[in-house]
Amino acid sequence: MDNVFINKDTFKGAYILSLSHLFNKKIENATLYEKYATLAALVNKQLRTNYELTNEYVVKHNMKKTIYFSMEFLMGRLITSNLMNAGYAQVVKEAFDDFGFDLNEIEHAESDAGLGNGGLGRLAACFLDSAASLSLPLYGNSIRYKKGFFVQRFENDQQKEYPDAWLNKPFYWEERKEDEAIQIPYFGYVKDIKLIDPVWVKAVPYDVKVVGADNNVVTHLRLWSTEKSEWQTYQDNEYLEMVDKISESLYPDDSTEQGKVLRLQQQYLFSAAGIKSAILEHKKLGRDVRDLHKFYTFQVNDTHPTLIIPELMRILMDEENLGYDEAWNIVTQSVAYTNHTILAEALEKWNIKIFRSLLPRIYEIIQEMNRRFKIVLEENQVPVEKVYQMQLIGANNVRMANICIYASFSVNGVAALHTEILKNIELNDFYNLYPDKFNNKTNGITHRRWLIHINPELTSLINNLIGTEWQKDLSLIKKLVAFKDDQKVLDQVKAMKLSKKRQLIQKIYEDTNVRLDENAIFDIQIKRLHEYKRQLLNALNIIHTYLRLKKDPVFKKNFHPQNFIFGAKAAPSYIMAKGIIELINKMSKVINNDVETNHLLKVVFVENYNVTYAEYLFPAADLSEQISTASKEASGTGNMKFMLNGAITIGTMDGANVEIVAEAGIENAVIFGMSAEEVTRRYKENGYKPRKIYDEDVRLQEIFEFIRNLTPNKTHFDFILQNLLTSDYFFVMADFASYVEAQENANKLYQDQKSWWKMSLMNIANAGFFSSDRTIQQYNDDIWHLDYIKL
Ligand SMILES: *Cc1c(COP(=O)(O)O)cnc(C)c1O
Repeated sequence: MDNVFINKDTFKGAYILSLSHLFNKKIENATLYEKYATLAALVNKQLRTNYELTNEYVVKHNMKKTIYFSMEFLMGRLITSNLMNAGYAQVVKEAFDDFGFDLNEIEHAESDAGLGNGGLGRLAACFLDSAASLSLPLYGNSIRYKKGFFVQRFENDQQKEYPDAWLNKPFYWEERKEDEAIQIPYFGYVKDIKLIDPVWVKAVPYDVKVVGADNNVVTHLRLWSTEKSEWQTYQDNEYLEMVDKISESLYPDDSTEQGKVLRLQQQYLFSAAGIKSAILEHKKLGRDVRDLHKFYTFQVNDTHPTLIIPELMRILMDEENLGYDEAWNIVTQSVAYTNHTILAEALEKWNIKIFRSLLPRIYEIIQEMNRRFKIVLEENQVPVEKVYQMQLIGANNVRMANICIYASFSVNGVAALHTEILKNIELNDFYNLYPDKFNNKTNGITHRRWLIHINPELTSLINNLIGTEWQKDLSLIKKLVAFKDDQKVLDQVKAMKLSKKRQLIQKIYEDTNVRLDENAIFDIQIKRLHEYKRQLLNALNIIHTYLRLKKDPVFKKNFHPQNFIFGAKAAPSYIMAKGIIELINKMSKVINNDVETNHLLKVVFVENYNVTYAEYLFPAADLSEQISTASKEASGTGNMKFMLNGAITIGTMDGANVEIVAEAGIENAVIFGMSAEEVTRRYKENGYKPRKIYDEDVRLQEIFEFIRNLTPNKTHFDFILQNLLTSDYFFVMADFASYVEAQENANKLYQDQKSWWKMSLMNIANAGFFSSDRTIQQYNDDIWHLDYIKL
């Protein structure tokens, strides 16, 4: 197809024609949605040419691919990112100016593709963008959830969840490929390795185009949807319901497994379908199945896709008739595993009964893997008490991480500190057995979305100072260091921040009716609500600050106005997390309505934090709250988005904060709290007494009293307070004093404007390392070894 985006006039002609075809409308009377839909359909159609050219190139050059298996891809909106990467944005903007359309406004007609919970899913989305932009043949593989991450509303200050029916409107970026459907068997029983009487479900792929930046490369994210199978002879209502359910909705919980059959069905769905479609493609191209590992790496994003390991064994042995050892050689040269967590309760385990009933043949294969693994352990003289811990199957459970480590040729953590903790503590027994498998790949973010797209003000400021080369290679952004003492430049950074604050103020005002002060410090904590992330610590300090403003005139006089902004969804079953949301909402009402202090202190909890909201929040921040209990946050990526947009980190030495501080310089961050080593030592010693801290700190006593008075029933939040007093597993009380001091410090630092904007600039200038282009380059250099697509 000729490029209709070649110039303004060609595009205008095509657009008018398309609007008429699709909606029978003229420019003057099209709705916002129709304008959007017409543009999206045109872009998608145009991208087909490069998509086909990319596929042809990959086939012709017999290229190795990486299939990135992830249960989540938190994509957000795609229109702007696709327009920018494809190089169509300027032409569209000019044409729309002529039409009198606002491209920014039209962008809002697109729903977020919210196929993820948080950091893990957003990382996968950034990786797709980076791999395509680096011209690497990497393809995503996941589930086409009809309902994405729930929509959050607050009712009586409490979180309520509503379904996100994002597919009720057409999704213009996908293409259904019926002829590449895969039949998936569940249940049944095994007789001589054959699965008898399974329930068949059909997995149909929908491929979503992924556009590389300025390189004509278009890859895809393959999303599997379930439908009734023609192989299934008996189809009652119960069957049809089950089929619908499997790809119906995303599990709104990224930390605990609920032991639900449905979740395991989902995992087998995208694992088995993804593996089978790779093998079919491999064979169709005339290649020997024994060479599979030379043409594919299967990257496993956390343990959710673990089932690709026994499934690949099953296909190679049962369908391709290879011996166990031959199959194992292929598996162990093609699978690589990324670990994302050190929270013990988040390590995925499946009850044997559920597992073996749903996947009987797969369970047999894991049993055989386990038998052989125990021999390996014995041969390596692993002490007996450790053998049990390392086995693939425990007394009641199948252990997904153990399977991944045993079968993968690479096991990576997601930040330097996290990888060290894996090697030396959490997975130390495995590390001693397989030291060469372990490696680090510090997470990253795509600077195309998280700077160029969302912060055009900062983008043009940087362009004016150092040219545009940095957009191709973010490490070049370091050139900004040269301007760290240039007052004119620092004033421009400040002006950029002010303009982003104003945009956020407007949005928050429309959404919540709270008007924030543009001169205040914007202090933002946006991330999933979890005890280890310690939103509660933030809340305690806010209450303390409020009470102090009320009674300490000197403090009040020296206090620079500060806005605290939260955004977070809690898993619907996570009572403590939901309680913390309610507490912050109730506290914010008291604080925002107090005329004595509300010119100095305001608190807002934005509803329904998602990628689109994130795009407003990150660029407007002065302070980036990264206050997890040290050792608990594997990496974080929100911390990187803030840094790249000029916020200063107030945080613990955890996850990638450690590397942020190393890159930016410790003088350009505000660090507090216990170290990871200290936290680990305290857990070991087992002598923590939070009650003692409370008894000795009148500030905490006053804060608790304030919280009790938030509700008529003074015991309403007792479950939160009691937890802090008696257990406080995440050391909120232990880090309280240190955090208050850090906050006071940050408030003072902000008042030295000259040094503040220098700190801000130094954060921007040193954020180059955190581009996911760097992360993907390292994955490719060390793990995948893919060649480049040259179009
Ligand atoms: C970046 C991002 C996250 C991850 O934030 P962390 O602070 O690293 O936990 C979660 N949700 C959304 C919408 C994001 O954009």
